[in-house]
Amino acid sequence: MEKETRCYDVAVIGGGPGGLPAALEAARHGARVLLAEKNGYLGGNLTIGLPLLGYLDKDGNRIVGGIAQEFADELARRGAAGPHTWCPLHNSVTIYDHEAFKIMALQRCLEAGVDLLFHTQVLQAEAEDGRLKSVVLFGKSRRIEVRARVFIDATGDGDLACMAGASYEKGEGDRRAVQPATQMCALGGVNLEQTISYLEEHPEQMELPESMAIYPGYDPAYLRANAKYHVLVGMRGIFRELRDRGELPVDRDTMIYITSLIPGRVHINCTRHLRVDGSDMLDLTRAEIEGQLQNYALVDVLRRHVPGFGGCYLERVFPFVGVRESRRFKGTARLTGEAVESGLVGADAVGLGGYIIDIHDGSGAGTVIRKVPPYGLPYGMACSAEIENLMFSGRCASMDRTALSSARVMPTLMVLAQGAGLGAALAAGRGISPGAVDTASLRAILEREQAILSPAGAAGGAGAGSPAGRA
Ligand SMILES: Cc1cc2nc3c(=O)[nH]c(=O)nc-3n(C[C@H](O)[C@H](O)[C@H](O)COP(=O)(O)OP(=O)(O)OC[C@H]3O[C@@H](n4cnc5c(N)ncnc54)[C@H](O)[C@@H]3O)c2cc1C
Repeated sequence: MEKETRCYDVAVIGGGPGGLPAALEAARHGARVLLAEKNGYLGGNLTIGLPLLGYLDKDGNRIVGGIAQEFADELARRGAAGPHTWCPLHNSVTIYDHEAFKIMALQRCLEAGVDLLFHTQVLQAEAEDGRLKSVVLFGKSRRIEVRARVFIDATGDGDLACMAGASYEKGEGDRRAVQPATQMCALGGVNLEQTISYLEEHPEQMELPESMAIYPGYDPAYLRANAKYHVLVGMRGIFRELRDRGELPVDRDTMIYITSLIPGRVHINCTRHLRVDGSDMLDLTRAEIEGQLQNYALVDVLRRHVPGFGGCYLERVFPFVGVRESRRFKGTARLTGEAVESGLVGADAVGLGGYIIDIHDGSGAGTVIRKVPPYGLPYGMACSAEIENLMFSGRCASMDRTALSSARVMPTLMVLAQGAGLGAALAAGRGISPGAVDTASLRAILEREQAILSPAGAAGGAGAGSPAGRA
């Protein structure tokens, strides 16, 4: 096996919403940056058929700017994204082309001079005296020792931070009491006109349980008005009946589909894999097997029972199971559920979140949804409290479970990632730890880069039909 050593200012491990903007931002600020990714492409969960949730707050104001908005604008310019569309349930839905995203992400990284390593995973981390000295990466035929002034763990599960010995929480008491994992798939041949017409005749199929505290207006008329860009959470009557008869191959009583930019194609978010620890390869293997088989079986059931899906076919099962929650590390600040629900925006905020609290129960009991005001993402949630040159970006950042259920959406994590990447570049340039970076100067730079740092700075562009759009 070939061995080599490489030196960087900033090394980012993981190229999803937590890693990609971090690498880009650090490189744009002159840092020598490595981005190492285990897949052969960039994006992580940005490539598994999900919509972007979280650009608009509960009143329909845009609270996400910076690189996350730059991505949405660039995709729209390429005809590969719809607008941020108001939704009474999710606040907003942004539908985009996942393949176009991969290419755009790659182009942006190459333009910024980010060094890319694909098919690469972390093997080992060596920490000494509260500092991460080096990290060993491995892939086919190679073992690369990386030395960096700052390391950013953006693996989702915090694989690097865990190897470095940083402390973390997982679940609540039981490490597997985490939100369920889901294997996404894409279906072609769907006639959504028929589906919406059916729902217009059967609006009760869109009734949601009381645990989901959403705005009024999530109904067939909303789907009709936003036929191209919506997420359906419904068909509970049909799903329940099928489940009671033992004919439903998935463990849930609600169908979720997401429209796509391709006519006749929808993305399905329906499998639910309980007690999957996303940082454990055995659990992941079980979830992949269940997910692929369940999606295959589900197609037949949808064909026979869901109006508009009679001619549908399985286009693809997305390449890996989606993990909602695993390790959460200890930062110099922690985003809490209370801060989220009270809309706390501290002087150290690198941007805003505002997506609903959205907890899919770990035991399969259902989903809890609550609207929240915009809240700040404290810079310290990305800075390790224990290892001075280690940062976390993405869902492994320092948060409690309630806060994670809101801040986990991809635009919000991209906001945090831009702040983390800038902090890392400034720290590397000044020879200080990321935790010692002056947040006032950091925020001033982010503001110049169109980041939205307070609700007062929220941009226009309120979605039609949203409370702000109606005002
Ligand atoms: C089923 C499901 C539905 C969701 N729905 C939505 C939605 O509709 N809209 C929304 O905005 N958000 C949604 N989310 C939340 C969102 O997708 C995640 O919270 C978010 O993607 C987490 O970002 P991340 O960068 O931390 O992790 P990821 O997106 O998982 O990215 C991590 C990256 O690191 C790489 N990696 C992992 N381990 C290693 C390693 N050891 N070495 C090298 N590379 C590694 C991975 O390949 C990946 O590219 C959903 C999540 C799930 C699971």
